[in-house]
Amino acid sequence: MLKIEALLAFEDNYIWCLYDTEHASAWVVDPGDAQVVINFLARHKLKLQGILITHHHWDHTQGVAPLKSIMPNIQVIGSRATQHPSTTHYVQHEDEVELDGIGVRLKVIATPGHTLDHICYYNDQALFCGDTLFSAGCGRIFEGSATQMYHALMQLSELDDETYVYCTHEYTENNLFFAEQVEPENQDIQNYKLDVQLRRSRGLPSLPSQLKIERAINPFLRCHHTSVQESVMRHNGLCMQISEKDVFALLRTWKDNI
Ligand SMILES: [Zn+2]
Repeated sequence: MLKIEALLAFEDNYIWCLYDTEHASAWVVDPGDAQVVINFLARHKLKLQGILITHHHWDHTQGVAPLKSIMPNIQVIGSRATQHPSTTHYVQHEDEVELDGIGVRLKVIATPGHTLDHICYYNDQALFCGDTLFSAGCGRIFEGSATQMYHALMQLSELDDETYVYCTHEYTENNLFFAEQVEPENQDIQNYKLDVQLRRSRGLPSLPSQLKIERAINPFLRCHHTSVQESVMRHNGLCMQISEKDVFALLRTWKDNI
């Protein structure tokens, strides 16, 4: 049976490990730290079959070369736009990848914005979204434009309601603090905050989230809602209606400056 577990790296990164104990096979997503992966594989007696990379930032890729040097036969799947030297299979928007040894098939979706090379991997059950979508938040826009990032998030928000969302950082509590400033009347945010506080107090990750939850609580996926639009306009002293894309851009700037 397939399991998906969060391996904590650095302060708040999660390296998602997909593994099948029956076949003793594993894949990891964005291994920023090789040792964390090596320890997990040893503890569970797993053989690493491959790596998925979402984008080029060091905290997502620093472990790739060390893992490849110890296990030279592993596959390394990454964005055609990254040109990471350890990549063995370059992929782009709408490609499909087969994760050998664990029987998982994922589609690739290009999500430029946080970085220009950013891609996400998904199927009906799971979305591995790197630094594009966070629970109750989204990634900072480092290389792309707000328009690109908004388009990327809108693509992700169209995936199935039941899809589990595997983000790469434990930012949820901080993001919820911002979400409730934007939508103080949103009861779903308050309820989710209690759930997250409980999980964190037990030492558990707040993730994965689920897309239906994100659509209810994540202000960056809710720019079409009047409550978010009015809040952004009030914060910026605007009285004219603005586009959803501009609501998103102002929301991102608001979050960047607190
Ligand atoms: Zn990043």
